[in-house]
Amino acid sequence: MSLVVRRSLLKLGLGAMASASLIAAPALSHAADLGQADSAADGLRCVAMDNLHTGETMEAVYWEQGDYIPDVLDAVNAHLRDFRTGDVHPIDPKLLDLLDQIASKVQTKARFQVISGFRSQATNAMLHEQSAEVAKKSLHTQGMAIDVRLPDVALEHLHNAALTMCAGGVGFYPESNFVHLDVGPVRTWRGS
Ligand SMILES: [Zn+2]
Repeated sequence: MSLVVRRSLLKLGLGAMASASLIAAPALSHAADLGQADSAADGLRCVAMDNLHTGETMEAVYWEQGDYIPDVLDAVNAHLRDFRTGDVHPIDPKLLDLLDQIASKVQTKARFQVISGFRSQATNAMLHEQSAEVAKKSLHTQGMAIDVRLPDVALEHLHNAALTMCAGGVGFYPESNFVHLDVGPVRTWRGS
């Protein structure tokens, strides 16, 4: 994919998720036909998110041909900024990989709805004061955590898919209707 096309996908928010899956599927099966061990090197990875606080939407290919795309990672960092303070922090690309894998697993056609991405220390401290459910040293403050739901997938199903990844922390918040995902140590808990 050329840089121009890539940028236009990012800028216009076109159906990168759908088009990328059309591109990625034959590439992966082709690799399988050839018996290549590392078929992922031929694929694309996509991120598709609606930030519920800012109203911003993002759909883009963020990884292709074995590399993360710096421009897109910058856009992800901005998309997941602390909306209260405007602070931007690098988001761990492994978190995007986790979202991409979960999206494939649950076969969503929708974008993740983001309840919380990066949180500055000040914001996290304020939320911690308000709720015992907000950890004092949250991985949200390191760009390693995200709270999400999917409009076309039951929360329990999303939660179960996240658990099968064994990729980090998974918190289930059925009353608040989101799942916390992070790329810290593997652990699980239930909130409200
Ligand atoms: Zn969280």
